[in-house]
Amino acid sequence: MNLYMPTSVYCEKNCVTAHADEFKKLGTRAMIVTGKHSSRANGSLQDVCRALDSSNIPYVIFDEIEANPSVETVVKAANIAKKENVDFFIGIGGGSPMDASKAISLLTKNTDKDEHILYEQVKLDYYPVAEVPTTSGTGSEVTPYAILTLHEKHTKKSIAHRIYPAVAFVDYTYLKTSNRSGFISTCVDALAHLIESYLNTNANEYNRMYAREGFRLWGSVKNSLVPCMKPENGSNESLDLSDEEYETFMHASLIAGMAITHTGTSLPHGLSYPVTYELGVPHGKAVGIFLPGFLRNYEDKSDVHDVLDALGFSSISSFETYIRTIIGEVEIPIEIWETDKKAILQNPAKLKNYPFEMTAEILATYR
Ligand code: NAP
Ligand code: ZN
Repeated sequence: MNLYMPTSVYCEKNCVTAHADEFKKLGTRAMIVTGKHSSRANGSLQDVCRALDSSNIPYVIFDEIEANPSVETVVKAANIAKKENVDFFIGIGGGSPMDASKAISLLTKNTDKDEHILYEQVKLDYYPVAEVPTTSGTGSEVTPYAILTLHEKHTKKSIAHRIYPAVAFVDYTYLKTSNRSGFISTCVDALAHLIESYLNTNANEYNRMYAREGFRLWGSVKNSLVPCMKPENGSNESLDLSDEEYETFMHASLIAGMAITHTGTSLPHGLSYPVTYELGVPHGKAVGIFLPGFLRNYEDKSDVHDVLDALGFSSISSFETYIRTIIGEVEIPIEIWETDKKAILQNPAKLKNYPFEMTAEILATYR
């Protein structure tokens, strides 16, 4: 068994400003990598700028990261970083800016190479990366993964390199500007990470400690997501969660990131990528569609029982009702579903994480 979790994590309110000194250890000139709006609205960008100012560290802001960031966008940011002599990166936002910051760091460090290195299995250096999550979903602040959109392949794919963030600043208060459907989607992503890590070829007693604690946390606040989907409330209103509930979801997401760092994800994630690419369904929601089918078909029923029990569900059908209630129904056109199934059956990286035989007939029952 092996356990490797190298990211230094601060998980508390106001941790960016309280630990501003950490940035000085990473380099001398920073690029902040973020999305268009949310980090300004929730205060995370201002906190990071204040922390850098207080340490006299110059920085540039790249605020053009889109959801499901593309290779083209990370190339654009890396070209700016090279010109500005940036030597460390700070990703602020959901998984998209955090993943992008890792890829940009790799491209910036390897000045003499082009974007093809992102998907080449060669060992390359990268500049240090710090992450500030503002969604409670991906855990990218501690994972070594970076998933980018490949327009020429009409899907998303994890880059070939493992880039562990040097530091993660996890402050749940940034979640408070989330809208209801976005928040639920990211929480379901964290849930999927826990489930796909626990029910995984690479699962062992060490790394299952993360998932077990994650199930306990996530399960303790799961009911707070249910009333959020009342149709009369619309889908874009702000949430009505307590500080403790936000903090618990944030903590569960962080731990879920630690869990998949050791195991990788499995079939629901693999199946979700074309659904997101072709239909624009947000990542967590796209993964959530396949969770009930994954649990139903998983052959080790005792492990499935442990998962449901730890989350506080009495059966797979009560889990399914819950998931469908919070994420709603998603129609996947038959031709997209057929291509999706074929692609996963030819995806050794995802199939190897599933410990049993997988066939087109079994996959057909996933939705
Ligand atoms: P995201 O794509 O980073 O962000 C989605 C939307 O949420 C954006 O419009 C963003 O706005 C907004 N947003 C972010 N924080 C907010 C806040 N606190 N309040 C209000 N709005 C906020 O969402 P995500 O689900 O966190 O990340 C998904 C990406 O992560 C996918 O590409 C997925 O493949 C990847 N992922 C990575 C890992 C990993 O281990 N590295 C694991 C799972 C998923 P702005 O654009 O204005 O910022
Ligand atoms: Zn995910």
